[in-house]
Amino acid sequence: MSTKDFDTLQLHAGQEQPDSATGSRAVPIYATSSYVFDSAQHAADTFAAQSAGTHANQYGRMNNPTVSVLEERIMALEKGTAAVAFCSGQAATTAILFALAQPDAHFVFSNQIFGGTTAVNRKILEPWGCTVNYVAPNADDIANAIQDNTVGVWVETLSNPSCTVPNLKAISEVCKTKDVPFIVDNTWGCGGYICQPIDHGADIVMHSTTKWIGGHGTFVGGAVVDAGTYNWANGKFPAFTKKDGKGRTYISRAKDGKTAFAVRVYDLGLFTMGMTPSPFSAFQALQGLETLSLRVQRSCDTALELAKWLEAHPKIKAVHYAGLSSHPCFEHAQATLQNGYGAVLSFETHDKASAWQFLDNTKVISHLANIGDSKTVAINCWTTTHASLPEEARYTAGVSPELIRLSVGLESLEDLKVDIEQALT
Ligand code: PLP
Repeated sequence: MSTKDFDTLQLHAGQEQPDSATGSRAVPIYATSSYVFDSAQHAADTFAAQSAGTHANQYGRMNNPTVSVLEERIMALEKGTAAVAFCSGQAATTAILFALAQPDAHFVFSNQIFGGTTAVNRKILEPWGCTVNYVAPNADDIANAIQDNTVGVWVETLSNPSCTVPNLKAISEVCKTKDVPFIVDNTWGCGGYICQPIDHGADIVMHSTTKWIGGHGTFVGGAVVDAGTYNWANGKFPAFTKKDGKGRTYISRAKDGKTAFAVRVYDLGLFTMGMTPSPFSAFQALQGLETLSLRVQRSCDTALELAKWLEAHPKIKAVHYAGLSSHPCFEHAQATLQNGYGAVLSFETHDKASAWQFLDNTKVISHLANIGDSKTVAINCWTTTHASLPEEARYTAGVSPELIRLSVGLESLEDLKVDIEQALT
């Protein structure tokens, strides 16, 4: 299905024919923990085939047909070679970092990333002996930070809440030159509709499917996509070439030699750590995907109009949105993003009291800690999502006490303007 357009893939990839058992057009929710084997040979073959992408129904922690459809659909939308779904975005992040980590490993992260990602570093990787550098997400700073023992470079497509857009192509070239895997958290890239990092040279793509992929604020989920581009047999990652009890390596288990990272992430994340998504959540993610491009396009268009309107508003000190010519990333956002500039903008009132007053008075806009919902939602990052960071790190991430992050949903532009105006006044 890879030659089809995004709009078609979001409906059909992973389930081109109706369900073979029942004729069901919708993807069925296979609520089962286990599968009956036809014979002793079938059981042995199923266990031998156990790897990401084989969809061998062995046991619910490792495989589920509803989840498999979701994985194939996300893989197609992100132009990868394999995808693995997780019970949360945080689980997907943890699985990626565990798959890369090894004794004395070094990581380079953008200094404008989701706090949950830095928590894995602070609470697990660093106490276990890995080292981590946080640098501005540009090619020069990343090139300077890479060391001989660097095992990964991690950035986000659009950073939260400053809407910084890293030049993915330039960073991927640095990573290729230095032979380091390049990971992009593409959660804000809205399921691949506004950015497909693999086109820009990413080796691994990650999503919190909780956000635009689900799109309705009804479950928590995550996914990892393997681009199939990195050579894991280059000697830097001994775990990929080490034989298991059955004489296999992650590379030998990979489909066409291209899915070794997905196999390892699956083996560590699902088989070993059990960070498995439920088939119910997978079904909700699939329902969300069916309308992804329509929803995201509408939210991006509304976000751009709101950003322009807020920029001219006397009660607003600054607006951060990559679609505004005043944003430092406006130029290369055009080369990196497609179809729009994202569904999240942030703005600063003249003081903290006005920001709190805004949050206490919205009527249509909900005050909560999520993004990517069909309903427009807002939050003051300083006191909530970023509150665990030291003040200096919050300012580096573009967060100030008077900043409001607005994730724009599907309400009418006019109704949102009316709500914002009355809440500001
Ligand atoms: N990455 C980004 C950019 C996020 O915004 C989030 C959650 O807000 C995550 C990862 C973690 O995802 P989840 O909340 O689904 O665990």
